Amino acid sequence: MRKDRLAYFRKRLLEKQRQLVEEVGKSALYGKDQEDDSIKDLGDQANTAYTREFFFELGNGDRRLLRDVVSALQKIDDGSFGSCERCSETIADKRLEALPFARYCINCQRVVEEEERMATG
Ligand SMILES: [Zn+2]
Repeated sequence: MRKDRLAYFRKRLLEKQRQLVEEVGKSALYGKDQEDDSIKDLGDQANTAYTREFFFELGNGDRRLLRDVVSALQKIDDGSFGSCERCSETIADKRLEALPFARYCINCQRVVEEEERMATG
């Protein structure tokens, strides 16, 4: 993928990450003695214990989404961004445009969701 496209997706992912962290930060503050600074810095510290704690605080959907966003940012860094994690095919540009944090191509997404449905009964 071209560098300017990667930069574009990185920007969008960072924005999404910040949004999620802020949302989670607000709700997680209740009954917590976190300092404001730790919340603000969170976006820059994807792998800290704080982040792991926040993953725990998140609802299932948001937690998964934030995890996928962080993982997509890592993939931009290691050069695997835009490839399906299951079949390694290139994920359609349209799909990435709509979901920059997508882990799978559209076909594998269906299969994975079906498998999850079976697993959770
Ligand atoms: Zn695939």
